[in-house]
Amino acid sequence: MRVDTVKRGEPLVAVLERAGVPRDEAARVLMESQAIDARKIRAGTTITSKVSPDSGASEVVLQLAIDRLVRFTRSATAGSRSGWLEKEETLSWTTDTVVVGGVVTSTLTGAIAQGAEAFPANVRDEVAYALADILEYRVDLSRDLREGDTIKVLMERQRAPNGAVRPGDVIAARLTVDGRRVETMRFAQGTKSSYFDGEGKSMRAAFLRAPLAFRRISSVFGLRRHPILGTVRAHQGMDYAAARGTPVRALGDGVVIFAGWKGGYGRVLEIRHRNGFVTRYGHLNAFAPGIRRGTNVSISRTVAFVGTTGLSTAPHLHFEVLVNGKHRDPRVALRNVTGEPLASGQRATFDDLKARLFARLDGPRDASTAAAPVVTRIAGD
Ligand SMILES: [Zn+2]
Repeated sequence: MRVDTVKRGEPLVAVLERAGVPRDEAARVLMESQAIDARKIRAGTTITSKVSPDSGASEVVLQLAIDRLVRFTRSATAGSRSGWLEKEETLSWTTDTVVVGGVVTSTLTGAIAQGAEAFPANVRDEVAYALADILEYRVDLSRDLREGDTIKVLMERQRAPNGAVRPGDVIAARLTVDGRRVETMRFAQGTKSSYFDGEGKSMRAAFLRAPLAFRRISSVFGLRRHPILGTVRAHQGMDYAAARGTPVRALGDGVVIFAGWKGGYGRVLEIRHRNGFVTRYGHLNAFAPGIRRGTNVSISRTVAFVGTTGLSTAPHLHFEVLVNGKHRDPRVALRNVTGEPLASGQRATFDDLKARLFARLDGPRDASTAAAPVVTRIAGD
């Protein structure tokens, strides 16, 4: 068995030759191939070959993706000019469920990493992002977590036969956020799955909790002291450290009432929402295309980009929430903005699933030792 990789800019025919296939045969194999386009094979692709000293290569396998390979086998009865048979194989991922999480000490990813031998380090950020996306109408995970808060996530884990692991969907999670309990679980209605809180209210609501997506900003929690600005200045807003150009999202549906320059705010955007809410985004580098006074925007749309205009010493977003013209702490102002409740006919099914999911969440971490597998039941339609 010989293992090799495709070097940058190297023709595939040369790699096959190195793998033990005579050059003219290799050229024919590639010409006949249905599965691969030799010009599109990426550098770094792994090639495994079976070679014997006297007869050369008898089998060559190209790993096209983590779950896809092409196997070339030399065969006297191949019926092809090259004398090789080609077979494309797809490896199937298997899914199980695991529980990850622990006590928050410094970062969300760090908390997720506890008990997360379930996931290799390089995909733990993805687990944190998936959770932050589900919670983005309810919790600002970049700001609200405190040391000692807890996170527990029941989620799907997908495994390939070659040992590769990737996170699947979050099934349920329970957190304490600044001491407050937050629960969420996936629930299917008809063919559509979405996330609900423990009370059966949709996790989607009229406002996001943060104007920057969690995956785009520092995951250091409790940003009471600004890492770049040094201290939180005496002003009525929140500062988010982020790279210049980071997309700024509309916190909710609304209409742009100001897009221009305003003293210390620098380039600033103001959006009016329903119920007397106005959101203000300052120190912007630029507005998104089409954003001007009078533009209607929908929740989560990119409306601007982080900058350091006005009275600002480093790229960051200055964010304010005003209610009926008065500054409010966004955490307080948005606390009671929650989603629509489930239809009452779904309630019994929901409660039954919730009991089983949270029992699993509190049970053993590894699915293989769980007494019973968790099956997400599709609610009757
Ligand atoms: Zn500020």
